[in-house]
Amino acid sequence: MTVLVAGAGPAGARLAQQLAIQGISVILVERLIDPQTDAFSSAVVPIQALADLSIPDDSISVRWKGWQLFDPDGIKYQWWSQRDLGVILNFGSLRQQLWQKALEVGVEFLSGWRVKSVLSSHEWADVELVGPNGLHQTRRVRWVVDATGHSRVLLGSSAPSKPFNADLFLDGLGVEWILQGDQNSSTYWRDRVSFFLGSQWIPYGYGWIFPMAGDQLKVGICRLPPPLTDHLEPLSSLLNRLLLKTQLDCLPVLDRHGGVVRSSILRREAHVIGRVIGVGDAVSTANLLGGEGIRHALVSADVLAPLLVEACCQPSNASQSRKINPLLQFERQLRHRLGWRWNLSGRLAKRTWWGLCDQKSDRRLGSLINALSTSANAEDLSRLLFDYRFERYGLRFLPYLMGWR
Ligand SMILES: Cc1cc2nc3c(=O)[nH]c(=O)nc-3n(C[C@H](O)[C@H](O)[C@H](O)COP(=O)(O)OP(=O)(O)OC[C@H]3O[C@@H](n4cnc5c(N)ncnc54)[C@H](O)[C@@H]3O)c2cc1C
Repeated sequence: MTVLVAGAGPAGARLAQQLAIQGISVILVERLIDPQTDAFSSAVVPIQALADLSIPDDSISVRWKGWQLFDPDGIKYQWWSQRDLGVILNFGSLRQQLWQKALEVGVEFLSGWRVKSVLSSHEWADVELVGPNGLHQTRRVRWVVDATGHSRVLLGSSAPSKPFNADLFLDGLGVEWILQGDQNSSTYWRDRVSFFLGSQWIPYGYGWIFPMAGDQLKVGICRLPPPLTDHLEPLSSLLNRLLLKTQLDCLPVLDRHGGVVRSSILRREAHVIGRVIGVGDAVSTANLLGGEGIRHALVSADVLAPLLVEACCQPSNASQSRKINPLLQFERQLRHRLGWRWNLSGRLAKRTWWGLCDQKSDRRLGSLINALSTSANAEDLSRLLFDYRFERYGLRFLPYLMGWR
C-alpha cells in the first residue's frame, strides 16, 4: 500500500525519498511546478547541518564565518571565526535537488497538483487532488503525510487536535528581496550574516542582510507581534527604511518573496490524526528565535521515516492499534531529537519578539548584545543561536527570560 506525501518542501521531499529507498510506494504531491518559484526562505543553515543532514552541495550559495549584529542604537558588533560557521542556501536549488533525489529513487511526483482533502477510514485514506486545468483525482492510500508547512492543510482541517490550551502559536510574517549588488556594495556584507535588532529597526522582529553568490544580497525583515496588535507599519515600508539606512536602496531588485513562520511554543499539537501524520513546519519544527526551520524539517523527516516504514510493514490482519503504534512514538522521538532546550528557545522567542516595541526593551536587548560582545566568541554565538545553549549564560539570560530585567 502506498503513502501519499502532501507538500515537497524540505520535510516532504526528504521523507518521500527516505520511504522510497526502503521500498515503500510513495506519491509526492506539490502545488508548485517550478522549484525556483516562491523561494521564500533566507535559508541560513549552520555548517554542521551540511554533513549531519546530507544537504546537497549544489544548493549552497555561499559560506560565512562571521556574525554582525546592529543593536537598537545602530552600534555594530562583529564576531569572526577562523573557520566556516554556516552557509546560505539557494532555497529554490535546495528544493530542486531534493525533488531530483526523490525522483531518482522511484517516487511518483505530481507537481502542479494540490491536495484538497482527506477522508480517513479504518483501513485507508481517500485523498482528493486537484491538478492543472482543474483536473480532479482521488487516490486511495494507506497513510497520508501533511508536509504542507505552516498552513497544515490536512491536519488543521481533518479533525480537532488535542487540546493545546496551555500552548500557543507564535506567528511571524517575513518579506525578503534579492538585490543585485557589485564588488563595492557587497563587500561590507560578505562572509558574514548581519542582523538588525531593536524596535528602532523593526518593532516586534528583526532585519537581516545575507550575502549570496554573484554579489547578490538577501535583505529581509520578519515580524512576530502578539496577537491582535494594531497600528502596525506595513512591512514594505520597514524594509524600505532598512534599505535606506544601509544605503542599498539604489540596487536593482531581482526578486521579492515572503512567507509565514509559525510554530507552537511547546509543540503540543497532535502529530497524528486518523490516517494523517504531520512533518516539518506542519508540526511546529520552525524555531522562532531565529526563524530557522530547514534543518529541523529535515530532522523530523529522518525521525518519521523508519516509524512510517514500520507502520506500513504491519500485516493487513494486524489490529488497528498495532498498525498505528509505531506512529504514536513519533511525537516523543521528535521531541527527544529537538532536545530539552527547544521549549526554552520558544519561550525566549515569545518574550523577545512580543516585547520588542519600546525603549525599555531596546535597552534590555542592547545590554544583552553588549554583554555577549565581551563574553562570547563567534563559535559561542553559533552555539547560542543554533544549539540554544543558554545555560552557559545562565545568570545573564535567566533574568531576561523571566522578565526581571
Ligand atoms: C521569510 C522566511 C525566512 C526564512 N529563513 C530561514 C532561514 O534562514 N533558515 C532556515 O532554516 N529556515 C528559514 N525559514 C523557515 C524555513 O524555510 C521553513 O521552516 C522550512 O521551509 C519548512 O520546511 P517544510 O518542508 O516543513 O515546509 P515548506 O518549506 O513550507 O514546504 C511546504 C510545501 O507544501 C506545498 N504545499 C502547500 N499546500 C499544499 C497543498 N495543498 N498541496 C500540495 N502542496 C502543498 C508548498 O508549496 C511547499 O512547497 C524562513 C521562513 C520564512 C517565511
